[in-house]
Amino acid sequence: MTADPSDESTPTAGTPKRGKSAKTKSGEPTAPARVLSVHAHPDDQEFTVAGTLAKWARAGSTIITVCVTSGGAGSNEYTPPAMTRAALVPIREEEQRSACRVLGVSDVIFLGYEDGLLEPSLALRRDLTRILRRHRPDAVVCGDPTMRFYGQRYLNHPDHRVAADVTLDAVFPSSETRLIFPELLDEGLEPHKVSAVFIHGSDHPDTFIDISAVLDVKLAALKEHRTQMGQWDPTEMITAWAKAQGARRKLAAAESFRLMRLSEP
Ligand SMILES: [Zn+2]
Repeated sequence: MTADPSDESTPTAGTPKRGKSAKTKSGEPTAPARVLSVHAHPDDQEFTVAGTLAKWARAGSTIITVCVTSGGAGSNEYTPPAMTRAALVPIREEEQRSACRVLGVSDVIFLGYEDGLLEPSLALRRDLTRILRRHRPDAVVCGDPTMRFYGQRYLNHPDHRVAADVTLDAVFPSSETRLIFPELLDEGLEPHKVSAVFIHGSDHPDTFIDISAVLDVKLAALKEHRTQMGQWDPTEMITAWAKAQGARRKLAAAESFRLMRLSEP
């Protein structure tokens, strides 16, 4: 997990336009038609951007989640002592699928990298580039690789930084440049230009998505990660995060992003 949320108030209705960068009257970006949401571990998405994804799914977006690892190192005080990485992986993958069903996410892709040991490799960049070219999202959602410290109590997990960094490198220049990873052309995967990147967890957010109407959905999705929640109820913390982010735009609950527009609407 990381930290960060915010939001805005007017739910976007109807079928999203292909034009990605349009805004509603409230200034909130309209729901992208096709979204790829990339994270290091099962549960990262639910802690950070689940409200936005739930809102977009209800507005008609097609969303695919990518988990770079399957969370095999995610043991905690609630984990049975006999649990192994191999046994934990299928459990956490199923928890992530359940969370995605709650949100309205269409599909989850697990890349199978080792939890806790992620490196910014060209192999990972190629894997993410392949997914971008195959699924051709208008918008990508990922973390902020420049964030090393959150307050005075949380050192950002190295897997989070790596997943975010390599995702951005796959978005640009790898996905849109024909002669980077030419072997992907042999797989029939033509270049694809992503229009917008929604970066969560930034200390300089400029875009706030109102999640007031879907905060309960975010909480329900997060609670699907039973191996990580144990007896802990995340409601108070998640609600406080959403309220803090929303307060910056006079919203009751929000998730916040640094938004990169890589092409015009
Ligand atoms: Zn994580």
